[in-house]
Amino acid sequence: MDYVAGIDVGSTQAKGVILDEQGTLVSKAIIDMETNMGTAAEEIFQRVLESANLQASAIAFTVATGYGRYRVAFGDLQVTEISCHARGALAEFPGTRTVLDIGGQDTKAIRIGDSGEVKDFAMNDKCAAGTGRFLGAASFALEMPLSELGPLALKSTKPVKITTTCTVFAESEIIGHLAKGHRPEDVLMGMHHSIATRCASLVRRVGLAPEITFTGGVSRNHAMVALLQEVLGTPLNVSAQAQFMGAIGAGLYALDHARAGRQQREEVVR
Ligand code: ADP
Repeated sequence: MDYVAGIDVGSTQAKGVILDEQGTLVSKAIIDMETNMGTAAEEIFQRVLESANLQASAIAFTVATGYGRYRVAFGDLQVTEISCHARGALAEFPGTRTVLDIGGQDTKAIRIGDSGEVKDFAMNDKCAAGTGRFLGAASFALEMPLSELGPLALKSTKPVKITTTCTVFAESEIIGHLAKGHRPEDVLMGMHHSIATRCASLVRRVGLAPEITFTGGVSRNHAMVALLQEVLGTPLNVSAQAQFMGAIGAGLYALDHARAGRQQREEVVR
């Protein structure tokens, strides 16, 4: 066995990783979900292979996760995002007992037991207000890339209270506040506050057990990290690979299967 792959087909972005036999990250790639899920999965697989300079035949086992995991035709197994984020977070921060995963369309709080098992989880319901989609609405209304929202929000001195709880109305509320003369940074900070409060209550639903590891694309937003730490009153672990945690967890499950497969083959030979 040489390598394994973890493919996380999310609602907003597809992420892929290749791990070696020791579970070390060999390559990673991310793409926006512009095409259909099956095509995105193929594309992300090609990208991680190219960046690792490997052929598909070098991959002993592939686990697919994410919203679109059943569309990964070449996947050997599908595992839920809940299990994969928990596994990825524990691998980097073994003290993790709570995972907060904020993605493009859903947010999950996951409670982990002392042996690393998933004990409980809570998810945002149908409403996308406490997810990356709310920030997507801000990015659209302010005509600003996602990566600039957090840094601008951190310049706020007078955050505006955002009252809408619905993503559909968020954009018009932002435009309304700007028209009244509020500064973009203050409106943005209000948006961040609104998301942080919702996510914190999701964490409390499963029980706020330290250490808390923040995963998913929204963890790349520094304002959100700072606000969540403030609202939850505890520091958060944030990996440099936080958006790849689901893919890494999937890769680690793939490694278990590849090792078990090899062991079985060796037993047959003996
Ligand atoms: P999913 O798995 O649901 O597709 P992800 O965990 O990949 O979601 O997160 C996607 C979200 O991450 C986007 O909606 C956006 O809010 C946020 N995001 C992505 N890139 C950045 C960035 N560079 N800076 C800040 N936020 C980002």
